[in-house]
Order: sequence, then C-alpha cells, then structure tokens
Amino acid sequence: MTQTDAGVEFAQKLSTNRRTEEERAAILANPGFGNHFTDHTVIVDYSVGEDGKGSWHDARLEPYGPIMLDPSAAVLHYGQEIFEGLKAYRHADGSVWTFRAEKNAERLNRSAARLALPQLPPEIFLEALRQLVGADKEWVPNGEGESLYLRPFMIATEAFLGVRPAKEVSFRVIASPAGNYFGGELAPVSIWLSRNYARAGRGGTGAAKCGGNYAASLAAQLEAEAHGCKQVVFLDEANDNAVEELGGMNVFFVFKDGTLVTPALTGTILEGVTRSSIIQLAEDRGLKVEERKITLDEWCEGIASGEITEVFACGTAAVITPIGKLVDGDSVIGAPDAKAGEVTMSLREQLLGIQTGAVEDTHGWLTRLA
Ligand SMILES: *Cc1c(COP(=O)(O)O)cnc(C)c1O
Repeated sequence: MTQTDAGVEFAQKLSTNRRTEEERAAILANPGFGNHFTDHTVIVDYSVGEDGKGSWHDARLEPYGPIMLDPSAAVLHYGQEIFEGLKAYRHADGSVWTFRAEKNAERLNRSAARLALPQLPPEIFLEALRQLVGADKEWVPNGEGESLYLRPFMIATEAFLGVRPAKEVSFRVIASPAGNYFGGELAPVSIWLSRNYARAGRGGTGAAKCGGNYAASLAAQLEAEAHGCKQVVFLDEANDNAVEELGGMNVFFVFKDGTLVTPALTGTILEGVTRSSIIQLAEDRGLKVEERKITLDEWCEGIASGEITEVFACGTAAVITPIGKLVDGDSVIGAPDAKAGEVTMSLREQLLGIQTGAVEDTHGWLTRLA
C-alpha cells in the first residue's frame, strides 16, 4: 500500500467470475438481510515488524471468496475481532452515498482500542468503502427501504496460541444487498426481557462492537424466540434494573410531553450512529432529549399511566423499529396490538429520507461513494 497525496492506494484484482446480470437481478428482487454478498471484497493487512512497530500494508480489492487462515489464528480461539455496520444508499440520480461513515471509522478505532487491535487510519476505512462500492455499484438496490449493507471487520490472523494481542491482523470489508431487516411491513416488534443473561458488565466490552458480545447474546435471543419475541432487551441488574439496549439496537422512549429519553452511555451500551442521529433530529425539531438512566419500573409505570406513549429501537440495519410490547416472563407490558407511534414513524421517515436523498441533508451527513 502506498499513501499518496491523493490518499491511500489499493491494488485492484477484479473478479473474472462475476454474477451475471440475471443472477444479480434475481438476488436483488428479494435480498433479505445478510444472505447474499457482492462480487468483491477489500482487504488491508497489518503486521508488527522486528522493530516492534506496526503498519498497514497490501491494501487491495479482490474477488469475494473464503479466507485462508491458519487453524491457530488468534481470532478462532480468543475472539479478537471487531466489526462495523453501515449502508450505501442509491439516490434517484443513480449516485451512491453513505451515511456518517466517519462515525463508524471512529467507533471502529474505539472498539479496536478495547480489543487490543491496531488503530486503522480513517482515510483507509473510507477508501476501502469507496473501492468496494465502486467495483460493486450495480449491487446497490434502489427499491424502497433497500440498500447495500457494508460490513467492515478486523480479525487477529496471527498463528499463535499464546494469550497476547496478535501481531498480525487483517481488516476487510464485505457488502450485502439488504431489504427490510425484520422482513415484510413495519409492524411493531415484541421484545423479550432478559432476566437470566446480561449483555455487558462494568469494565467489559459492552461499548465495543465485537463479535463476542453477539455470541453472548444468542442464548437470550433463543429464549426470546421461544417466547414468541423477535428481540431481547437487557437490563443492568446492579443498577436498579436500568434499561440498557437490545442485542444490536439502542432504545428510545417517547413521553407524553414530547420528550425523548434514551439510556445514557455508561460504558455498557453501544453508542449507535442511528442513536446520535435521532438525538440530533429530535433536537432540531425543538424536542427535549434526555440521555439518562431509565429503569424497568419507570418503563412499566410510564406505559400504565400513559406517560410513555411510544417505545422504539434503532440501529443501522433496521433504522427505527417500533416496539409493541415487552414480555417479562408471564407478564406483558404494553398493548399486544400497539400500532407504530407518530413520533417513531416521522423520525424514521426523516432519517430514511436523508439517507436516500429525498430529504435535504442539512448536517452534511452524506458522503458520496460512487
Ligand atoms: C451496532 C449496534 C447498535 C446500533 O448502532 P448503529 O451505529 O446505530 O448501527 C446498537 N447496539 C449494538 C449492541 C450494536 O452492536
């Protein structure tokens, strides 16, 4: 890899085995989420040299395909892995844009610091996205609510079973055309309250976007599904049952007077880009937004008294999803037939509108990729 005035240079090895236009069209007709991947991938390697200094090198675009890893690669044993998730949107004129990618680049580096992985210069992160979307532009769908989901990730590739930060690491990006995350129309989802499992603890990795957090949430997710729920919400039991977040989404409460409340970032909650964008959009509307502790008791009492009028979850994949009811063992909080709330839907529409170019981007949140 060379770094020139114009930025980072990537070697390009284009696929000779791209899907045909018909094959691509068949996939894009019903992409689902995370089922299909584009024709290329981007890779940048990192190694620590004899002098103890680490550097990123061999940035390249390659055909999509399996990774060759030594069976002793650190990532396979100790889970030294982090990832990101963001989307590329096709605008009406055919151009392709991404949303606040610099936030994802910064967050990747915060996650990297927590998992003892190397810092990746944000310009490499952004150029990697440009390279991949540039090569696979045809894969960006243009249907309503559709996008190309971008999945950057960093793994410890060093072949070594000792426990210490790996000296060889790989940063990669793959891309997957995406429809509506939960599939079908936007119906409020039921949420299972996790009483048996925690997602994060003080001093743990809850604020980092790492695969281990997701592995640890799967048992709770299975419990949720066994009780007819789509998602699970985690509490901080050691902190008055403060509401934290869902397995992969942040949560917001809309109060009767228009105030929005979302759990404060305590170190156990992942700082969502969608979360911070919603805070900004709500404040632009003159709404009061509180980042504070909100307990399970306040949630239950607020629903019962009518003080809380809407609850929604948010994240890149599903954007904004209304929460219908909360299931806590045998009890149900909220009406089973709850409809998506007005504030929820209008914030969703505005955010999607900015991302897809239908609403003016007054904050400079969009970056053109292709
Ligand atoms: C990625 C993620 C979110 C949402 O973050 P966005 O940047 O809005 O996509 C929320 N919680 C967890 C645990 C996550 O991993």
